Amino acid sequence: MPQATPAAPVSADPRPTRPMRFNPWTALALVVYHLLALAALALPWRWEWALAGLGVFLWAGLGTTVGLHRLLSHRAFQCPKWLEYFLVTGAATTLQTAPLEWAANHRTHHGYSDKDGDPHSPRFGVFYAHLGWVIDDLSTDRQAWKVRCKDLANDRYYLALQKFRFWPHLALVAVVALTAGWQALPAIVYLPCKVWMHAAYSVNSVCHLPSFGSRGYETPDTSRNVWWVGLWGLGEGWHNNHHAHPRRAFFGEGWRQPDAGSAFLKLMSALGLVWGLRSGARGQAEPEPGQ
Ligand SMILES: [Zn+2]
Ligand SMILES: [Zn+2]
Repeated sequence: MPQATPAAPVSADPRPTRPMRFNPWTALALVVYHLLALAALALPWRWEWALAGLGVFLWAGLGTTVGLHRLLSHRAFQCPKWLEYFLVTGAATTLQTAPLEWAANHRTHHGYSDKDGDPHSPRFGVFYAHLGWVIDDLSTDRQAWKVRCKDLANDRYYLALQKFRFWPHLALVAVVALTAGWQALPAIVYLPCKVWMHAAYSVNSVCHLPSFGSRGYETPDTSRNVWWVGLWGLGEGWHNNHHAHPRRAFFGEGWRQPDAGSAFLKLMSALGLVWGLRSGARGQAEPEPGQ
C-alpha cells in the first residue's frame, strides 16, 4: 500500500484566470435537470421504482467509468462491440456530452492536468472544477476529437451520437414513461442520473483538492485518492492511482480501495466478455491512445 504524501504544487499562482463564456441555455438545462431530480423526493416512492432507479444509476455509472473512461478514453481493455455500445449508451442517458467529445476532453485533462489547458482544474475555482466548466463554452474544444480521438473517429455509432446525443436519454424517458408512468421519471431517471453526475463531477473537483483524501503517487498534478468518491463513483475516486497509471483498467489497489468498476470488469472477464485488461506497472511507459 503506497504511503500518502502531500499534494505536489503545480503552480505558483493559486487562482489564475482564464477566458470564459457563460452558456445560459446549458445552465438553464442543468437547473431544470436538478429540479426534476429533486421532484423525486417530493413524490411518493415505490420499491420497484427505487430498484429501477438503482439499475439506471449502475448503467449510467458503469457506462461512464468503464465505458467512456476506461475503454474509450484509455483503451484499458477490449470487449465485444455490443457490450461497448451498451455501456456507452448508458453513459449517454445522463445527457453528458457525446462520447467522442467526452473522450477527447478527458484525454486533454490527462495531457494538461492542473495546467492552463486543463478543461476543469480547481486552479480556476472549486465550483468551476465541479460544474462551472460545463456551462463555460470556452472550457472545451468541441472539435478536439478529430485530433485526439482518431482511433474512435470512424465509428458510425459515435459519429451518429455527435448529431443525436440526446436520443439515448429521450429513449429512456419514453420507455420509463410508457411502462411506469410520467410520475416515475424523477425517481427512475432524473435522480439516479443526477446522483451519478455529481459523483463524476466530484472526480474533477474533490479529487484534485488538497483538502481531501491522500496521494499514493507523486504525480505532477494535484490528483487525490478519496475513499468516499471511490465508493460513490464506482472506483473513480482512486484518482491519484489513475493519474499515475492512466491506461490501467483497475483504479483501486487492494481490498482497502473498493472499485466497483474493476469488480464489474473482473466479472465480465470471468464470463469471457472482457479481455486484454491492462495492468501497467508503476513507472512503465504508457503511451496515450488515439493520437
Ligand atoms: Zn484528474
Ligand atoms: Zn482518465
